[in-house]
Amino acid sequence: MAVADGNSLLVYKDMGLVSQVFDETTLQTLQGHLAIGHTRYSTTGSSRWENAQPAFKTNAAGGGLAVAHNGNLTNTASLVARLGGQPTCRPPASSDTEVVAELLVGEADLPLEEAVVRTMPRLEGAYSLVLMDERTLYGVRDPHGFRPLVIGKLPGGWVIASETAALDIVGASFVREVDPGEVVAVDERGLRSRRFSEPDPHLCVFEYVYLARADSTLAGRSVHQVRRELGACLAREAPVEGDLVIGVPDTATSAAAGYAEASGIPFGEGLMKNRYVGRTFIQPTQTMRQLGIRIKLNPLRETIRGRRLVVVDDSIVRGNTTKAIVGMLREAGALQVHVRITSPPVRWPCFYGIDMPTRSELIASDLLTDEVGAYIGADSLAYLSLEALAGTAQAGGRGLCSACFTGGYPVPVDTQAQGKALLEGLLPPSRP
Ligand code: SF4
Repeated sequence: MAVADGNSLLVYKDMGLVSQVFDETTLQTLQGHLAIGHTRYSTTGSSRWENAQPAFKTNAAGGGLAVAHNGNLTNTASLVARLGGQPTCRPPASSDTEVVAELLVGEADLPLEEAVVRTMPRLEGAYSLVLMDERTLYGVRDPHGFRPLVIGKLPGGWVIASETAALDIVGASFVREVDPGEVVAVDERGLRSRRFSEPDPHLCVFEYVYLARADSTLAGRSVHQVRRELGACLAREAPVEGDLVIGVPDTATSAAAGYAEASGIPFGEGLMKNRYVGRTFIQPTQTMRQLGIRIKLNPLRETIRGRRLVVVDDSIVRGNTTKAIVGMLREAGALQVHVRITSPPVRWPCFYGIDMPTRSELIASDLLTDEVGAYIGADSLAYLSLEALAGTAQAGGRGLCSACFTGGYPVPVDTQAQGKALLEGLLPPSRP
């Protein structure tokens, strides 16, 4: 978190869960009327302390700047080249966010707001940013609006957050989204807006499928409702005889309910989630992912035994998670396991903020659906069509990115100049 009181800006960050990093004593030291916070999910730049956010810089006049970033830039390498080879931060960080902060403080002759408006058009790829100095908070969304960013109002202030669910939690009312290509500023005068680029909306369709919370609203569409409709579409596109529809919690629960309703097969809970562990495919290492699968879900044997199951999940990325789930359900006594996925096969890597950077990691990149089904050990496997996914999600009326399904990237990508370790070699070794 970064906190400011109008005169000074303080950043406190560490590795781990929010509840491990912040306690009452720490929070007492973070006093002010302006703050940003972020839990980083590593894309460009490895998972280590220096890359934890907010990134912090001081300018030539001694003023502070803190930046938090959801998304991933696609022109990081060329931006670093413009900076003269490497960001000058100490201790060394290697994230694209650090480069953004470096570019902003590099505009030493400009007020921060002007620096933002000048710098943002140089960035390519996905960025929903919150940033601040001692006096002003800014929210910025890239011209494609890959990642969400919303504005809320409290009785005594403003909130900018990734999702509307965050507004609900703090009791803020939803005002509107930050538009693609827009920067909003909040200070003692209230909220004002500027545009730094023409919008060309391509909201990540995976937000509807998996990433966003079900209780959020994206582009005017309830994520829960979209997922229910995706499940219903899947029931119509890929029907199968079964005794029970179960969803893989939590992200596929809404879709499973939609599949059950449309198919007439009863909906039930077959897997209990350990709510104290995180999502599996975004864990940074394969070992952690495999451990995560085992400790994340527990089958309800009484419900499963002797049943023909229709198992609804949101996506298959590497295939390991789904294979483990199918195996777990069979061990628990399922008679048949039919897997239904509420998205098309993921065949292309995402360069806009989801950590699946190489095609070879994606099981559907070179296997046909039946082959993936055999790998995961299912009696049958079916994916939702792209037409059904896009048609359902696009009811929000805005353009969508679906590049991981089609390979049609809205922002051209030099695939040789991407990856988590892109800046590691450019920088001095990390501190012990
Ligand atoms: S490539 Fe896929 S995951 Fe990445 S932004 Fe586009 S739709 Fe979302």
